[in-house]
Amino acid sequence: MPGAGNLTMAQEIDRVALNRRLEFYRDLGIKTLWSGPSAGSASSQPETAAEPPPVALPATETTANALAPQNQRIVPIQVNSPLPPMLPEDDNLERIVQDMGDCTRCRLGRTRQRIVFGSGNPEARLVFVGEGPGADEDEQGLPFVGRAGQLLTQMIDNTAAREGLAIRRPDVYICNVIKCRPPENRTPEADEMEVCGQFLFRQIMVIRPKAIVALGGTAAKALLDLKTGITKARGQWHAWRDIPVMPTYHPSYLLRPYNQNAKRECWEDLKKVLHFVYD
Ligand code: SF4
Repeated sequence: MPGAGNLTMAQEIDRVALNRRLEFYRDLGIKTLWSGPSAGSASSQPETAAEPPPVALPATETTANALAPQNQRIVPIQVNSPLPPMLPEDDNLERIVQDMGDCTRCRLGRTRQRIVFGSGNPEARLVFVGEGPGADEDEQGLPFVGRAGQLLTQMIDNTAAREGLAIRRPDVYICNVIKCRPPENRTPEADEMEVCGQFLFRQIMVIRPKAIVALGGTAAKALLDLKTGITKARGQWHAWRDIPVMPTYHPSYLLRPYNQNAKRECWEDLKKVLHFVYD
């Protein structure tokens, strides 16, 4: 194997391609990659607690294995691996749905009824991102259709109407960090969000909205890697890549009767976002 300073042209090209790919995954927020012959097989579970962290590469980039630093474990993957390809120029929502298939890339695939991909205007200027589907969503395959969803619809429709903006829920796009319901509506685990996050990030990159609203602490953490809680983070603009993100409360939190102040604050956040996006 040639030393790092003595690469052939082909190896140098592979090295550049490898770095670009790893950078792409980092941009997607994917810290742990995993490999497997097909979705749903025993070997297709996420690799966790591996030290040093696994790095997955397409099988075609074999030369890159030879170039990997000795302390990095390279896991070749098969052609039908569920790993995301480099974001294709012509990526679109249908293609992401196709790539997901009958996804069982994480444990939530074993207990859900339906994948809840997202709904709304595929060219929306505003995207709302929640945590994950609940029971109603799991049953219908649509995001935010339960009580919290009805509140979200009212918030969008009423706030826009009051502010003189001709915007209603179907004009925006709504999805979640994870696409399958966690049992008992528990908070998604970090590895589930990492694995499923690839689909959210592709959705956002395809839609390229002018702004994103992160509904609740889990969505804010997934998008922004925030160290502070939602109470501190809400009401201020943050950014995911170059897209402004407004964290605010999740509608299910607002349904609790003692949260009137939070409700008011959330309405203020939404007002700010709607004017920013649609004025
Ligand atoms: S939560 Fe996401 S990664 Fe996990 S099975 Fe569902 S679609 Fe696949």
